Amino acid sequence: MILLEVTNIVKHYQHGQALLRKKQIVSVLQDITFSLHAGECIGLVGQSGSGKSTLSRIILGLEKPTSGTVQFDGVNLYDANNKEKNSIRRDLQAVFQNSLNSFNPKQTIAEIIEEPLLNFEQFSRLERQQKVAELLHCVELDWTVTTKYPSQLSGGQQQRVNIARAIAVNPKLIVLDEAISSLDMILQKHILQLLQRLQQQLNLSYIFISHDLNATRFIADRVLVMHQGQIVEEIKKSAAIQHPASLELYNAILPTHPKNRKN
Ligand code: ADP
Ligand code: MG
Repeated sequence: MILLEVTNIVKHYQHGQALLRKKQIVSVLQDITFSLHAGECIGLVGQSGSGKSTLSRIILGLEKPTSGTVQFDGVNLYDANNKEKNSIRRDLQAVFQNSLNSFNPKQTIAEIIEEPLLNFEQFSRLERQQKVAELLHCVELDWTVTTKYPSQLSGGQQQRVNIARAIAVNPKLIVLDEAISSLDMILQKHILQLLQRLQQQLNLSYIFISHDLNATRFIADRVLVMHQGQIVEEIKKSAAIQHPASLELYNAILPTHPKNRKN
């Protein structure tokens, strides 16, 4: 079953100079088309500036494309009625790179994780507490974090809270935009393994966005390579890489041991 269908997405930005009436149009996405099956993890890789985050905002309904459509679970994202919008807000979640920016610094961790439950569920206080405990267990965090504030947590713990909040209301798809990029290699691996386990347990779909081809290939069923606003290659699991833009990303990966590095 197709869960997400992205068709002919084009995005232009107009760069200012309104006073001079000289508007420069910058083309950021050019004719992006792909679809995602329920339960699938698609990787989206590309150099910085290739348009990944713009595409992720369009998929999340945070920004409108210049043209093209996004269908989520059979509903056109930009043509949905209020009831449909509400269920999309529940079924489509996101985790971004800088977790600290995505939290209200004045909320405790318990309040942060409870928020989607308050919005979407009719739980009693006790049921909410039980659900928070269950979610913390799912992301391997100790109950003692509930009374802390985001700034008191490590980067890895913050990303686990972000993931707990994203899975709180049983979404169908999570868009992860550079979700592990600010973490060191060991933590990245732990979070990738956690995401894999959750995907299995909760029957989730992911769009995993990163400039790191290695990490993306580890988790994704197939990887779409973006270059200057276009998808230039689709890399199937363990298939060879061909497009120059993909090879450039591949060569950017440093071997883990300094002795094996080229230069
Ligand atoms: P990536 O996530 O792959 O690094 P982005 O989607 O963030 O790429 O950016 C792609 C291009 O779009 C960049 O050149 C960026 O400057 C431009 N861009 C992104 N958002 C805006 C905006 N709101 N206004 C103008 N240009 C933008
Ligand atoms: Mg980005």
